[in-house]
Order: sequence, then C-alpha cells, then structure tokens
Amino acid sequence: MRVLAKSSFPGRLLLAGVSLTVSCLALADGRGHSHAHAHGQAAAEVSLQGKVLKVEIHGAMDNFLSFEHEPKTDAQRAQLKALQDHLKDAAWLVVPAAQAQCKVTSLKAESALFDLGKPVAGHADLKVDLVFECANPSALTSLRFTSLDKGRRMKKLMVETVGPSGQKAVTLTQAKPVLELK
Ligand SMILES: [Zn+2]
Repeated sequence: MRVLAKSSFPGRLLLAGVSLTVSCLALADGRGHSHAHAHGQAAAEVSLQGKVLKVEIHGAMDNFLSFEHEPKTDAQRAQLKALQDHLKDAAWLVVPAAQAQCKVTSLKAESALFDLGKPVAGHADLKVDLVFECANPSALTSLRFTSLDKGRRMKKLMVETVGPSGQKAVTLTQAKPVLELK
C-alpha cells in the first residue's frame, strides 16, 4: 500500500500535463500541435562561456501576441509589427546585471508569422536567440527576464542554465522574474 501511495503524486502531475496538452489540442482545431507548445509559458536556455552569454527563449506565440495564426485584421497586423519592433531590442526580453557590462552581439527572432509567404500550420511559436559579450562576466550575478514584466502575456518561464557553477533548472514567474546566477 505504501508503494501505491508514493506513486500517486507523480501520477497526478502526469494527469495535469495531459489535460494541458488536450486543451491546447482543442484550441488547434485538430491541426498539428507540438507537445512543447503551451500558452502563457515559455522555456529559456542560458549559458555563459568566458565572456559570451547566450540566451535562447522559445515557446508559443501566445506568450507575445493575442493570436497565433496569420494576421487577419489591421489590429492584428499592427500587433505583429509592434512585436517585430520590440524584438529588435534585447532589453525587451532580458537584461543582464549592469555591472557585467554585457552588450548584444546578435539577436535573431524566428516564427512562422514572420515569414507570411508560407501558410501557417496550427499554432505558431516564437524562438529568439540572443548573444551578448560581457566585459566583466564574473559580475554577472543575475539576469532579469523583462519578458515576464507585469501586463505581458507570458506568466511562467522555465529556465535551464549552464555556467561556471554547473547546470540548473529554475522556473521564473511575473512575481519572480530574476534569474540568480551566483
Ligand atoms: Zn497555441
């Protein structure tokens, strides 16, 4: 009986995951849908090697826009254009601790919605790759994910970090948007 009691907790977690996937599938009208696609939450990978800080953020476009298909109205086209403008500025997504003196050297944003020459299948995602060069990497004590600012659509960000102090996984929220690195 004890074994059964122990296994019920992960069982409940698994059920929660299944219901999330089902609700997202329902939203997709039965069209193709990736398991990683969830509304209101995204994932990030952070790595620091020498002076080079890399941050990758990926998740459902719903984290950034109120729609995930080709824009159909002027309001949606304006929203998409505004997002593409925001994505030219790394600080709109993430801000490294100032004393580390990190400068953006590369910023790439990819989404099916940015290439409307092709039809958008199902729900669109967004992937952003940011590279910084930090003059003082030992002072990189934290990263603030402005993508979790209050009023934004992203509520949760699952972050994996690889750095001099090893590997770890942290979940950030709008109430706790700062990744501590030391
Ligand atoms: Zn979706």
